[in-house]
Amino acid sequence: MSEVRVRFAPSPTGPLHIGGVRTALYNYLFALKNRGTFILRIEDTDQVRYVPGAEKYIIESLKWCGLIPHEGPGFGGDYGPYRQSERKDIYRAYAEQLVHAGHAYYAFDSAEELDALRKEDPNFKYGVYTRSKLKNSLALSSEETMQYLNRGENVVIRLRIPENEQIDFVDEIRGHVSFDSNELDDKVILKGDGMPTYHLANIVDDHLMKISHVIRGEEWLSSTAHHVLMYRFFGWTAPVFAHLPLILKPTGQGKLSKRDGAQFGFPVFPLNWNDANPAQTFPGFREEGYLPEALLNFLAFLGWNPGTEQEIFSVKELAEVFTLDKIVKSGARFDIEKALWFNQHYLIHTDDYVLAALLRPLLREAGTLYNDAYLAEVCNMMKERVHRINEIPQKAAFFFHPVFQYDDQTLLKKYKPVLRDHFLQIAERILQSDAADAASCEKAVKDYITEQSLKMGDILPVLRIAVSGTMQGPDLFRTIALLGKDETHIRIQNALEHFDRLFA
Ligand code: GLU
Repeated sequence: MSEVRVRFAPSPTGPLHIGGVRTALYNYLFALKNRGTFILRIEDTDQVRYVPGAEKYIIESLKWCGLIPHEGPGFGGDYGPYRQSERKDIYRAYAEQLVHAGHAYYAFDSAEELDALRKEDPNFKYGVYTRSKLKNSLALSSEETMQYLNRGENVVIRLRIPENEQIDFVDEIRGHVSFDSNELDDKVILKGDGMPTYHLANIVDDHLMKISHVIRGEEWLSSTAHHVLMYRFFGWTAPVFAHLPLILKPTGQGKLSKRDGAQFGFPVFPLNWNDANPAQTFPGFREEGYLPEALLNFLAFLGWNPGTEQEIFSVKELAEVFTLDKIVKSGARFDIEKALWFNQHYLIHTDDYVLAALLRPLLREAGTLYNDAYLAEVCNMMKERVHRINEIPQKAAFFFHPVFQYDDQTLLKKYKPVLRDHFLQIAERILQSDAADAASCEKAVKDYITEQSLKMGDILPVLRIAVSGTMQGPDLFRTIALLGKDETHIRIQNALEHFDRLFA
């Protein structure tokens, strides 16, 4: 096989949807598997839909995920520029080449005229059946055509779809695909402003950049018929096509949309996207406390599976087993529970100091008060109890603030006011114990309980609530060791005052 060169070709029309991240991932894995090249190409020819900041967002998302292009804007490569707006001058000659060969033609219809036709017939198509009645170089005389061209208004170039043809191609995922040419429209390939449309720029660039495989979303399947025709008209070999299945809503019904995030309560974008309009502001997986390794592992399985029971894969491992024939045809349901499951797995297996660095900014002012070792220990204790790092500030608030709220329900059942003094004694014992590690705290407390012939069940749960406010916290003695002897002493005293009020 010749060299594998694949591209991820997003349009900077807004934040990159999670489906786009999956497309980038599959391209990346395919390149890695085949020792090929992964290219980022920014398809920014549509000035109307261009959104400032979107390209930066796309690149930052890829970087966060570790899907680093081998070639692309800012990444180098021999086939640049990789931003289509910077390639504007390349495309016109190709469009004109098709006109001269009779595979494309000039059209002069104004936007208002076309709108009126669409209003009359919502299924209106500029194509085989209608083109002879419209304003274009196929329908008009050469004099009229020259006049329109000289005037230069509303001049576009359209692809001339042949009549009564079946357009066939093979898709690696869908198999044999066929379109009736009479159903296709004569797509604009070069616009009035001299900019190419997606269709022309996309195939010219795929050809010039020597793209071997086009791996993209299913929504581009019908355009592929046009692309296949253009490859034929130019006399170029078309790349291999693979159209990825849709990502479906959690209900399994319909395509996952950017609005579903808010509706179902999870992010559908990799990073936060801020907009002056709150309705266009979206949360991201990164800011919601997901790890990129977990997101990628989750996305890999949205439409692909290795055919074995194994679910946990690093990107490197994925690249070893990834093949296009294991991609499924049917839509993949977006299941956030699964994303959380993957995330917890990766939290547990991530170094505590790495997690500490992620946790610190989430603590706001409190983040400046603790050293790395303290935060790393909190992460170590908490990571099996949360699915996202962002849950830690709230679920482990007692490590960063005094206890404001106690689990009174449990206290009412467990606390025996007659034992009040013993708790004070235990606080003293802890204060006097010399080592600050969990084992010596445990020994100090348990020795006291045994000496005094008390019951563990009468002391330990209450002690736990005294220092952390809750029964849900991590190991009691590790908690005490981390809080420190002095802080624990103060907490037990404060808690006893609260207990007095509760039982007054
Ligand atoms: N620019 C198109 C998009 O935004 C790329 C489609 C393709 O990969 O050909 O999705």
